[in-house]
Amino acid sequence: MKPFGYVRAATVEEATDAYAHHPGAQYLGGGTNLVDLMKLGVAAPDTLVDIAALPLDTVEERPDGAVWIGATVRGSDLAAHPLVRGRWPVVSQAVLAGASGQLRNAATTGGNLLQRTRCPYFQDTSKPCNKRTPGSGCAALAASHRDHAVLGHSSHCIATHPSDLAVALAAVDATVELTGTAGSRSVPAAEFHRLPGDRPERDTVIEPGELVTGVLLPPHTAGLLSVYRKVRDRASYAFALASVAAVADVRDGTLRHVSLAFGGLAHRPWRARRAEAALRGTAPTASAVDQALDAELARARPLGDNAYKVPLAHAVAADALARLTAAPARED
Ligand code: SF4
Repeated sequence: MKPFGYVRAATVEEATDAYAHHPGAQYLGGGTNLVDLMKLGVAAPDTLVDIAALPLDTVEERPDGAVWIGATVRGSDLAAHPLVRGRWPVVSQAVLAGASGQLRNAATTGGNLLQRTRCPYFQDTSKPCNKRTPGSGCAALAASHRDHAVLGHSSHCIATHPSDLAVALAAVDATVELTGTAGSRSVPAAEFHRLPGDRPERDTVIEPGELVTGVLLPPHTAGLLSVYRKVRDRASYAFALASVAAVADVRDGTLRHVSLAFGGLAHRPWRARRAEAALRGTAPTASAVDQALDAELARARPLGDNAYKVPLAHAVAADALARLTAAPARED
């Protein structure tokens, strides 16, 4: 591993200042992904700015009923928090599906969103990879790509994003809060991660030096139900082949609200807006759900090894919606 400097920040301002004053710096949260990448030679920061001690480790209810989750809240604490489990179970379920208890005890909320792809060629420095080394090529295109993207990929990169939490946050219309030396801003979670285009080295819209300080879950309204469903190669922890976060509100037999986001299919959580538009205001019959999912997944461009993901995603989303819409009917 390449030698690196280390700075432990006590405040957000100290962290962003340290980043600005140390070229080649990276923020360090739980380290569950970054340290692995440093050992592999994939990441080689000159300085680590440790943010674990920042006062961002709480989950708080806002006056309007929104729930704020600090960036250094550990996965275990996030998944178990009553405000999260009670209002947005999809978020808790996604965190629990994402990693073992040991990893959840260490990994932070902000770090979860910023974890890198598990494309094996990205992690193998002997292989060309546009995400690791821009302009070097994409080894996955000509090799095995069973686990790779079917939606939104480009000739420069076909990787998927590995975070389950990010998929749930996209579905619930959460926002990601960022702070840099120029100030703070909020980004919709569904727009925080990018499609690869010709810049696959950029996973997110975050600017250099910006720090994720928290995530805001919107106020929950009575009747909104949510669920996370994930298909993986083995029952113990593995990344999604296909997953879905679903939110629905059925009243008088009609879908008043529905939102869907897929994981495991694209370079970012894939918000299924075509399917949502087709379903909103309709009775969620099996045939209506099938037609809506067909319309969404017609955009898929499977590669040689991963066409199976399209019917798999359809099935997992149909299952999630059936679970939500089969809940006891509500009336106004
Ligand atoms: Fe690299 Fe993306 Fe190609 Fe994987 S799919 S080798 S991450 S460019």
